[in-house]
Amino acid sequence: MSKASENANIDIFLRVKPVPRPSDKLFIDNNENKLEFVIPRSLAQGFVNNQREHYEFRFNGILGREAKQDEVFERVARPVVAGALEGFNGTIFAYGQTGSGKTFTMTGGPERYVDRGIIPRSISAIFADIAKRSDSQFSVKISYLEIYNETGYDLLDPDREIMALEDMPKVHVMEDEEQQISYRNLGLHLANNEEEALNLLFLGDTNRVIGATKMNQSSSRSHCIFTVYVEARKHGEDVVRRSKLNLVDLAGSERVSKTGADGDTLKQAKYINLSLHYLEQVIIALQERAMGLSRPHIPYRNSMMTTALKDSLGGNCRTTMIATISSEQEQLDESISTCRFAVRVA
Ligand code: ADP
Ligand code: MG
Repeated sequence: MSKASENANIDIFLRVKPVPRPSDKLFIDNNENKLEFVIPRSLAQGFVNNQREHYEFRFNGILGREAKQDEVFERVARPVVAGALEGFNGTIFAYGQTGSGKTFTMTGGPERYVDRGIIPRSISAIFADIAKRSDSQFSVKISYLEIYNETGYDLLDPDREIMALEDMPKVHVMEDEEQQISYRNLGLHLANNEEEALNLLFLGDTNRVIGATKMNQSSSRSHCIFTVYVEARKHGEDVVRRSKLNLVDLAGSERVSKTGADGDTLKQAKYINLSLHYLEQVIIALQERAMGLSRPHIPYRNSMMTTALKDSLGGNCRTTMIATISSEQEQLDESISTCRFAVRVA
């Protein structure tokens, strides 16, 4: 049995975004996969939910401020991508407050080639690996789903540019008798090579930003799931092996303060907080089941995202979360919240 099937252990990494004025004294990363926050009493008392002066969090790995995109890919994503090519479903999440580097981590920076994130690097790795395997015939398909206020939209819908978001067909998630997840109104696009797959990513990302601008919203208020479906058929055999890799850029985890947030913003914040909470519940229940502590009911049905990822979390699947924080003093409160979430699901 592979390691992945013995336990649902979810690997949790922390990534710290570099900033011009980091508060070094507050963050101690001593290279032991442990992050400490040492906060002066005066500052601790100003916190909303935290009063303490010392916090310690452990992770499977910490990617410090100096960590580059290639290192992040190798440590966080490579094992999950390799699993997908061996037939295991996999999921990689980026979790953190807006501005902490989720999109940079998943998609990458817009300018430099070295800033490519986990998604384009995964695409390259998949096609590079396929090219080396002459024993099987592969097909790669892509879908790109956006979940906004619990409603699904197809980021690769060709009508997306001309239609208002309200008029777009809504994506529905369904489950068949074999507990396989499928969708209505979500296009599956064949990618014959790396370039075609990267173009689909680029198109979806552009549509995400255009859609948000049209609605006068920030794109950080939606969850996005970029899914790569891999099918392999060994030459001379009929059996097709299917797996998928979900690369998830979650909505910003920050708590929206009631003062200053209008009706719509509050409604969104409520949806986001709820769906992140349901994700946490599902992961915790999967961990409990894997440890044999109990046979809990896994509450997938509570949110669209957990329903969509039902066949790609726990069990035989490889799951990794990368929690992102920004190393500024002003963000301490949210950084601690993010670390707390990350260790709760670990
Ligand atoms: P989020 O998606 O969590 O809201 P972004 O990924 O958009 O955050 O990051 C906010 C800004 O910080 C962007 O300009 C991004 O390019 C930059 N940034 C984020 N992480 C890093 C990093 N590790 N190194 C350099 N710049 C980064
Ligand atoms: Mg983002």
